[in-house]
Amino acid sequence: MTNSDKNTVPKVKRPRSLAFKIFLYLAAFTLFILLVLWLFQTVLMDEIYQKIKLSDMKSCAEEVSESVSSGDMKDCVLSASGEYNCCISVYEIREGSGDIVASSHRQTTCMVHNLSSNGFLGEMYKGAKEDQFYIKRIGLELGDEDAQIMSGGTKEKSPSAVICATIVEKGRADYLVLVDSEILPLVATTRAIKYQLIFISAVLFVTALFLSVLISSKIAKPFKKMTKEAACLAEGRYDVNFETHSFSEAVELGEALNYAAGELSKLDVMQKELIANISHDLRTPLTMITGYSEVMRDIPGEMTPENIQIVIDETGRLSTLVSDLLELSRLTSGSQVMHAERFNITETVRETLSRYSHLKEAEGYQFVFNTETDVFVSADKVRILQVLYNLINNAVNYTGEDKTVTVSQSIENGAVRISVSDTGAGIPKEQLPMIWERYYKVGGFHNRGKVGTGLGLSIVKNILLMHNAHFGVTSTLGVGSTFWFELPITE
Ligand code: ADP
Repeated sequence: MTNSDKNTVPKVKRPRSLAFKIFLYLAAFTLFILLVLWLFQTVLMDEIYQKIKLSDMKSCAEEVSESVSSGDMKDCVLSASGEYNCCISVYEIREGSGDIVASSHRQTTCMVHNLSSNGFLGEMYKGAKEDQFYIKRIGLELGDEDAQIMSGGTKEKSPSAVICATIVEKGRADYLVLVDSEILPLVATTRAIKYQLIFISAVLFVTALFLSVLISSKIAKPFKKMTKEAACLAEGRYDVNFETHSFSEAVELGEALNYAAGELSKLDVMQKELIANISHDLRTPLTMITGYSEVMRDIPGEMTPENIQIVIDETGRLSTLVSDLLELSRLTSGSQVMHAERFNITETVRETLSRYSHLKEAEGYQFVFNTETDVFVSADKVRILQVLYNLINNAVNYTGEDKTVTVSQSIENGAVRISVSDTGAGIPKEQLPMIWERYYKVGGFHNRGKVGTGLGLSIVKNILLMHNAHFGVTSTLGVGSTFWFELPITE
């Protein structure tokens, strides 16, 4: 990349800081709470207050009406006017005229005790006849000063008296129950609440700011530390220890990073071992090839078929190593495509074993195949052959003194299981999960006597994973190992 290219690379916009985001959420939450409070405490306050007041008056009128029927009217009028803080008058209406039969006077601005005309009583009676709870609202005439005090300095609203009338029929008389209460305008109260809300808002916003800084610094602290430690990982220092004792999310991240660091360090060791092994593996055949070639060139009579065979064998060793490395890198890069075909796996195993017998019987190896019927599978034949070759090769390389390799075929739950067993030294239990990893060698060293690149089982694993096949290994020290895999049978 040239310098001018670098300059034209657009800058990636960094996301906002944690503190800013937390403040934003807290501020939004505070705003929402304040809005709800403001709505109920100021805008709807008057309406709610009036609704409650009217409902109280109706309840009061109802209680008194019931007491008229039951007879304890006077006591009830007294107690209800105290309970609901209102004036109550009960009129007995006979033949067009009404007389007070019970009354309780609590408010100076009461209308029911200052009825100026029979006309008003008549209106209330008529209203209550039409409507069970007849409500009449009357604006109160107050002096300028009073009105200003009650309305919080404005003259727009003045207190009003509300009268609730209801009729109880008893005998030949009608009883008109009048309940009077004063409804005060809440302008002053709502104004006070508004000032309080402004103050509360300011306090809440400052608190939100303080809390966001506090919370974010608490949350960000372990992450900042981990970022520093992760930078060490990038530099190849795998001995870092990510903190795992703040809060669960950070602990989980710390554990995941510790695990990743462990895996990276293992991989690093393995790669170093691989380089050592590969260089050793490459150098040995190359030395042999060079040595034998020079001998054959310089010493007459040394150009024997045996010497040439050694050069061929060593070249073969080299090409196996190179092709294993290529194969594994192709498999793990995911660029390999599977070519599934239906084939007789029993026959394939049989043919493979007969090839081995042909090659190895002279060295005293024995190959046993236990099978009952021939089965077909749908898989990538070339790759399954690779699996078989790798497993049988390992069994040949690691089997015991009896030089026996046994392949068994069994059928279970619609799948065929191919097991390759040897009678070798076995693999320690704790190392069993690792042998499938690239470059892994039991004991950690490379034994040239037992030819191998340390890549065979990793290739096997990747091929079987490609087929979604089950596979595994069982091993007993001193008895031998059995590697197996399963493929679904096709009819
Ligand atoms: P290699 O090419 O070295 O055999 P593999 O990936 O095939 O590499 O095997 C990995 C390691 O697993 C081997 O180095 C060996 O230590 C162990 N291993 C594999 N197969 C057997 C077996 N049949 N018996 C004992 N050890 C085995």
